[in-house]
Amino acid sequence: MIAYLKNNCSLQQKQELQQSLTSHGYNNVFVPKLNLIVIPNLKSSAILEKYTQIDRVTEINTAYQLSSILHKPETTFTVNGEIIGKNNFNIVAGPCSVENEDQLFLIGEFLQKHNIKFLRGGAFKPRTSPYDFRGLGIEGLKLLRKVADTYNMTVVTELMDIKLLDSVYQYADIIQIGSRNMSNFYLLNEIGKQDKPVLLKRGMQAKIDEWLLAADYILTGGNEKVILCERGIRSFDSNSRNVMDIAAIPLLKSLSHLPVWADPSHGTGNAKLVPALAKASTVVGANGLFIEIHPNPKTALSDVEQALTFDEFSKLLPEIEMLNNLKPASLEFSN
Ligand code: PEP
Ligand code: MN
Repeated sequence: MIAYLKNNCSLQQKQELQQSLTSHGYNNVFVPKLNLIVIPNLKSSAILEKYTQIDRVTEINTAYQLSSILHKPETTFTVNGEIIGKNNFNIVAGPCSVENEDQLFLIGEFLQKHNIKFLRGGAFKPRTSPYDFRGLGIEGLKLLRKVADTYNMTVVTELMDIKLLDSVYQYADIIQIGSRNMSNFYLLNEIGKQDKPVLLKRGMQAKIDEWLLAADYILTGGNEKVILCERGIRSFDSNSRNVMDIAAIPLLKSLSHLPVWADPSHGTGNAKLVPALAKASTVVGANGLFIEIHPNPKTALSDVEQALTFDEFSKLLPEIEMLNNLKPASLEFSN
C-alpha cells in the first residue's frame, strides 16, 4: 500500500499518522521527496479512510512497492540530453576494465563514430580472485571522465563501496551497482540518497522480487532514477558463464515502471553468444543494451572471453537498429 499525502500535510500530521500506523502493527516508511508513506503489510485501504491528511492510496499486494507498476506507469529521465526509459533505446559500450589511456581513447573514438553516447568501464573491479587485475581505481575514473568529455559521452561505472561514493559521484554520470552488491542494502540506502541515476544489476542469485526490493531500497531514499539491468543468473551448467534470463525483460516491464537494460556480455560470458542475446533482448522489449567491447579482446585484463571486437560490434549495431524499427509494427508488448 502506498499512501500519497496531501501537499499541505504538516510534519506533525504526518508523524501522527505514522505513529498510529505503527501502533496498529503496520511498518511504514515515509519518503519525504515523494511525500508518501509506504505501508507494505497493509492489504486493505479501509483503515486509512479516517486520515484526512491522505490524498489517495494505491493498494499493492507485492513485497516490493515503489518499483511496482501500480505506483506509476513509467519512469523516464534524461542524462546529458539522452532519454532513458519510455520507448527509447540506449546502447552502452566499453571495456570491462579501464586499462590505460590508449585503450580507452581508442574505444571512445570508435564509439563516437557510431554515435554511441554511453561509455561503460570498470575502475574498481569486483574480482573473484584477489590476485587478478582489480582496476585502476581513481585513475580509471579520471580516464573515463576525460574520454567521455572528449567524445561527448556519458560515463557508466561501478560503485563497489560506500567509502568510494564521493569519488565515483564526482566522475560518473550513471552509478552502477554490480551483481555482487545488489543485496548490499546499506550501499543501496546510501545510493538512494544521492541524485545521480543508478544502474542496478541483477544479483546472480536474485529472484525478480528480490531485485525489485533492492530497487525499492534506492527508491525509498528518494532517488527515482533507477535502471534495472538483466545480466544473467547462475545455473548448474558450466557451458555458459550465466543463464541470460530473457523472460525477465518483458516480465519486469509488466511488473515495474523502471527502464530495463540487458547485458548479454555478462549474461553469457561468451563473445560468440553476445550478438544473438543482444538481439533477443531487443526484440523482447529491453530499453537498452550494455555490451563489453575491447580493441583486442585477447589481451583484455578482465572478462577476456566476452568482449566483442570493434568489427563484431559494428556488425551488430545495424541489426539492433533494424529490430528496433520493426518493434512498433510487429513486436509490440502489452502489460
Ligand atoms: C560489470 O559490468 O563490469 C560487472 C562486473 O558486471 P556484474 O556486476 O553484472 O558482474
Ligand atoms: Mn566485465
